[in-house]
Amino acid sequence: MYDVKSPKAEEFIDDEEIRETLAYAAQNKSNRALIESIIDKAALCKGLTHREAAVLLECDIPDLVERTFKLAEEIKQRFYGNRIVMFAPLYLSNYCVNGCIYCPYHAKNRHIPRRKLTQEEIRNEVTALQDMGHKRLAIELGEHPVQNPIEYVIESINTIYGIHHKNGDIRRVNVNIAATSIENYRKLKDAGIGTYILFQETYDKKRYEILHPSGPKSDYAYHTEAMDRARAGGIDDMGIGVLFGLTGYRYDFVGLMMHAEHMEAALGVGPHTISVPRIRPADDINPEEFADAVPDEKFLHIVAVIRCAVPYTGMIISTRESKKVREKVLDLGVSQISGASRTSVGGYTEEERDEETAQFDLADKRTLDEVVAWLMELGYIPSFCTACYRAGRTGERFMKICKSGKIQDCCTPNAILTLKEYLLDYAAPATKALGDKLIAKEIDKIDNPALKEAVLEDLSRLEAGERDLRF
Ligand code: SF4
Ligand code: SF4
Repeated sequence: MYDVKSPKAEEFIDDEEIRETLAYAAQNKSNRALIESIIDKAALCKGLTHREAAVLLECDIPDLVERTFKLAEEIKQRFYGNRIVMFAPLYLSNYCVNGCIYCPYHAKNRHIPRRKLTQEEIRNEVTALQDMGHKRLAIELGEHPVQNPIEYVIESINTIYGIHHKNGDIRRVNVNIAATSIENYRKLKDAGIGTYILFQETYDKKRYEILHPSGPKSDYAYHTEAMDRARAGGIDDMGIGVLFGLTGYRYDFVGLMMHAEHMEAALGVGPHTISVPRIRPADDINPEEFADAVPDEKFLHIVAVIRCAVPYTGMIISTRESKKVREKVLDLGVSQISGASRTSVGGYTEEERDEETAQFDLADKRTLDEVVAWLMELGYIPSFCTACYRAGRTGERFMKICKSGKIQDCCTPNAILTLKEYLLDYAAPATKALGDKLIAKEIDKIDNPALKEAVLEDLSRLEAGERDLRF
């Protein structure tokens, strides 16, 4: 029985409710009056229910699909402006006891080399990332109680925060580790993590059990209820996502929306981010074996409807996607992207390992400087901002500011200041010239004279050698 507030996975992600929602969406896919009313509601930027979002995604009336895309662009602009936050994944270990059949790290893959970074190796990787200009990382590990216990994760986080190479800093460590206990979540919180990220992979329980035949992750309920435990452990910035292509996208889309509704209703805080990965080729994995792979056009539609349905939530896309697709989704709602990623353990310092231990093949292999320049050419401000959680703007407090649309008063100045740091410390000359022009243009756009003055003052302080200034 569907109950948005229930602590039980099978009640807040109720299979029957999803199937009824899909039937309702199919019946109404050409219902112009209903779809128009949903678009009008979305334009108020207060969000949509999972049923409304499902209808919008199923809509087959071309001009209304077009309106949905347009609205997504407007909402994106209204909540996030033109800043795009940059991050990089850091793979610490690919030891894993789970059997996820879509991931090359699954325990039965005997030909992938297994690797776990020592603290010294982490120092080297982080130094390499700092030398590119990164300030925000997402650490990734397989699940392995012996090789990757929580103590190793905490020690690694402390190591990462402790490295200050030249002007470099990692100021926010987001963590993507397997579902764990309340006690372990508390330890992560105490270690000062940014967002706790866990992808559901698929919300379809039957499919989930086929895809996860062994290991602790095979427990659907334990995995699906992870955010509830994370919240009980004191974490209030949580990121969700599915791996599109594991099952029919419609089912997972509705599950994702229901999970967001559950978090807001039962945990008091909606998802801080939603990630939208699609299945990619990798060692031992052929995406063609996954019949539900999502075509580009539908993928863009999914991103647009998520933007309309949960306007306050950051949306993340990785280097799994090509430059072409990344360009389109930036307009439609994505607010965070990775740049110059290595998806292998030790990939930032050891070129030869790059492909060998990769979790998935990259579609976008450009350097960070190339990505930064590309974003600026498209009119975006690449941002290395990490200000919110350091200023205590997390959880409900963050959501309140974000829902009011006021977060932009922080995002834009912080994007300008962190871009300036990047230009001063890491950019190639052509990127620097492009960036300085963009900053001048962005400062012109600030209406509030006091804010403009404060940003100009901080820019001078950065020029004079200070770092890490923020609003
Ligand atoms: S998806 Fe995660 S849990 Fe599953 S095999 Fe890969 S690393 Fe392990
Ligand atoms: S000000 Fe907050 S929401 Fe905006 S980019 Fe920085 S950390 Fe993100």
